[in-house]
Amino acid sequence: MRPRLFAAALLMTLSAAAPAPAQEPDWSAASKETLAHLQAMIRLNTVNPPGNELQVARHLDSALKAAGIETHLFEPAPGRGALVARLRGTGSKRPVLIMGHMDVVGVERDKWSVDPFAAEIRDGYLYGRGAIDDKGMLAANLETMLLLKRNVIDKGGTLSRDVIFVANSDEEQSGEWGMGWLIKNHPELIRAEIALNEGGRTRIVGGKRLYVAVQNTEKVPHTVTVTARGPGGHASIPLAGNAISRLGRALARIGDYKEPVQVNPTTREFFSQLGRVWPNRQERTAMADVASTDTRRIQRGARVLAGIPVFDAVLRNGISPTIVQGGIRTNVIPTEASAKLNIRTLPGQSIDSVVRRLQRVVNDTMVTITVTDRGEDSPASDFHSPMFAAIRESVQALDATMTVVPYLSTGATDSARLRAWGMQAFGLLPFPMNQDDEDRMHGNDERIPLASLDFGTRMIYGAILRVAR
Ligand SMILES: [Zn+2]
Repeated sequence: MRPRLFAAALLMTLSAAAPAPAQEPDWSAASKETLAHLQAMIRLNTVNPPGNELQVARHLDSALKAAGIETHLFEPAPGRGALVARLRGTGSKRPVLIMGHMDVVGVERDKWSVDPFAAEIRDGYLYGRGAIDDKGMLAANLETMLLLKRNVIDKGGTLSRDVIFVANSDEEQSGEWGMGWLIKNHPELIRAEIALNEGGRTRIVGGKRLYVAVQNTEKVPHTVTVTARGPGGHASIPLAGNAISRLGRALARIGDYKEPVQVNPTTREFFSQLGRVWPNRQERTAMADVASTDTRRIQRGARVLAGIPVFDAVLRNGISPTIVQGGIRTNVIPTEASAKLNIRTLPGQSIDSVVRRLQRVVNDTMVTITVTDRGEDSPASDFHSPMFAAIRESVQALDATMTVVPYLSTGATDSARLRAWGMQAFGLLPFPMNQDDEDRMHGNDERIPLASLDFGTRMIYGAILRVAR
């Protein structure tokens, strides 16, 4: 036995097999390339319905193929597209998936100050439908694939896990031709340990890049119908118990009611971290209160944060009446009137219990409340995991002053499907934006700051490089 020689040989083998350190990409070239792809994708109109996402899928397919990356292009339905691409790793870790949707919501063209599909650049912003939802993310994900290929693999380096790129359709409508279709028809192509999706926030507050909220869990959407019944007849003879009046009373009571405050591990960490950097002093104290384990402090903090609707919404089940129906003619008293409530429960909360509480609040036997569309809960992803750490490191390498927090989103995303399927899914919106820019999502004059497009691309590349090291 010559242990010393053996050890030396082992060391040499190990260092020979170790991945070549990735050099910093040429970020100025990468930035131009990302922008060009985003502009090209905005110019391909994919308003859903009908979607026509296949054109964007083909654009992505040819860009990936040109770099020598393996792709799989599908047409789930005429004109709809699904694209999966893969960079092979050594397989020592399970794959990571980066995804984005190619469809966009419609536009009120006359309310835009630019052509929403021209991808015009003005004053440091790129304008266009999909710029932030979700073609910006697609462009950043595409660039990440191209850079990993050219900068790591083509230079003899290795990745510890496969990196899978997915561009899907129909996210803004049913999802039937999107992630749902891929999971059903090609699970083998997209099965991964981790997924990076849309659904987070990178927020500029008071002109300063403040925090990155990484969505690791989300509220569950349900539709609940409130139906009031009463005597019908000719409107010339007013009747007590008129169904419309009854419904109005029930809705007013529901409007005055708030579900109790519930703090879960994600919201506790969110407010605890954010409370350290938040600019407003009173709100900062309220965040620390909410993150405490003292019930009285939690209630006190929640009362302050209730003044900020987005924060209030993550602290309790939310109830929003959205549709009212009743009556057929102005001179006929209808026997029935109804309203739809959009209810978003916190993960782990039962919609049936919410309905029972609402029944007590309404307190009228002529009013029934039923769940007409039930959402599905899925487990939260772990914010102490390697992916979360990689995101944090990547962000702090770009801006050491930023805080990275786990985040419970009030909106629903495809990640719920992936989490239910056993994946660790995290939601990002990697582009630093202030509230005004963010509010343009699904609105008019949607735009992305060019500097934020760069930041987001670097953030995703850095996170994937770290987690696939
Ligand atoms: Zn989206």
